[in-house]
Amino acid sequence: MDPMRIATVWFGGCSGCHMSFLDLDEFLIELTRQVQIVYSPIMDIKEYPHDVDLALIEGAICNEEHLEMVRKVRARTKILVALGDCAATGNVPAMRNQLGLGNAENVLQRAYVELSDGDGEIPKLPGVVPQLLDRVMPLHEVVQIDHYLPGCPPSAERIRFFLTQILERAASDLKAQDLKFG
Ligand code: SF4
Repeated sequence: MDPMRIATVWFGGCSGCHMSFLDLDEFLIELTRQVQIVYSPIMDIKEYPHDVDLALIEGAICNEEHLEMVRKVRARTKILVALGDCAATGNVPAMRNQLGLGNAENVLQRAYVELSDGDGEIPKLPGVVPQLLDRVMPLHEVVQIDHYLPGCPPSAERIRFFLTQILERAASDLKAQDLKFG
């Protein structure tokens, strides 16, 4: 059986969900025998690959770059998992929605000008810093999500249980195919 191709993706989040994934400790070693990690912020791979079986996605959709990337991830991945509350509900990054009132300019004004010592200005860096969206969105508002792993962050135990179930299901699906065609 080919190893399952797994990706992890980091959008608007604090990286705590990725830390929880890394807390899997020895299960990670077990995992590397059964899966291939094909994309992750902890690896130096620039382009999201094709034919990914499962992506664990941390964080909410906060800017234009996230928006473009999550659509690409959806198009190239069989199973999308919202990893943690920011991905599932918007959670912490979505708190700015109340301040912005549907306009990212209000948030920038507050952060760079109103809270400055008096000489602050909104940086203009087109093409360098991605454009903020007017409203932070949970993943499901942009693409179809197949599974949710709630928590802030979801515990390592919860992630381990979920991945074990997914791997067992993949193995039994393959066995059923073998019986059908064998
Ligand atoms: Fe961080 Fe919690 Fe958001 Fe995960 S769900 S990225 S731990 S704030």
